[in-house]
Amino acid sequence: MRILLIEDDENLNRQLAQMLRESDYVVDCAYDGVEGHFLGDTEPYDAVILDIGLPTMDGVTILEKWRAAGRKMPVLILTARDRWSDKVAGIDAGADDYVTKPFHIEEVMARIRALIRRAAGHAASMITCGPIALDVKASKATLNGELLRLTSHEYRLLSYLMHHQGEVVSRTELTEHLYDQDFDRDSNTIEVFVGRLRKKVGPEWIETVRGLGYRMQVPE
Ligand code: CA
Repeated sequence: MRILLIEDDENLNRQLAQMLRESDYVVDCAYDGVEGHFLGDTEPYDAVILDIGLPTMDGVTILEKWRAAGRKMPVLILTARDRWSDKVAGIDAGADDYVTKPFHIEEVMARIRALIRRAAGHAASMITCGPIALDVKASKATLNGELLRLTSHEYRLLSYLMHHQGEVVSRTELTEHLYDQDFDRDSNTIEVFVGRLRKKVGPEWIETVRGLGYRMQVPE
């Protein structure tokens, strides 16, 4: 899952990015409004954390521009405690949720997990596919109740496929959602990861759709 983080407070940006990466998200960081708006307009993200008070372009304007351009990714806004009007403006502009500063980073993490789950149509923090269970809260996966030993890349791949169960997911889409913008993108890498993941979860669950990509099976 790939997240865009737009926050001009460098300390807060660093802390949030670190926590997100420790939870196996891929994170692109922006420190001002114009850069953040550009990234959200041109790159695919599974969720965005957007500070409202930003230099060069404020968060509400960014959000209005994205929504007007048809960008639908879930957005969590960060607002200052004494600026209740920012909250209202942010929600009116199309924010999906908000957190008021100062906050506990854990709260932001919980809200991001919930936004991503809801966007994928899952209400609970546990997603299952036959014998495979994904605990998005703990960033862990099990097979028949046994913990799966996955690398960070394998976990992200499994998580993305399970959030999109039954859908064909192209290699390009996977590459875009599993790596940050600076990664040297090579679609063969995805094939290697899929191959390794198949060995761990059982080959029958991840189908190759020739010429299109991969599909996580929906159990009968
Ligand atoms: Ca700010």
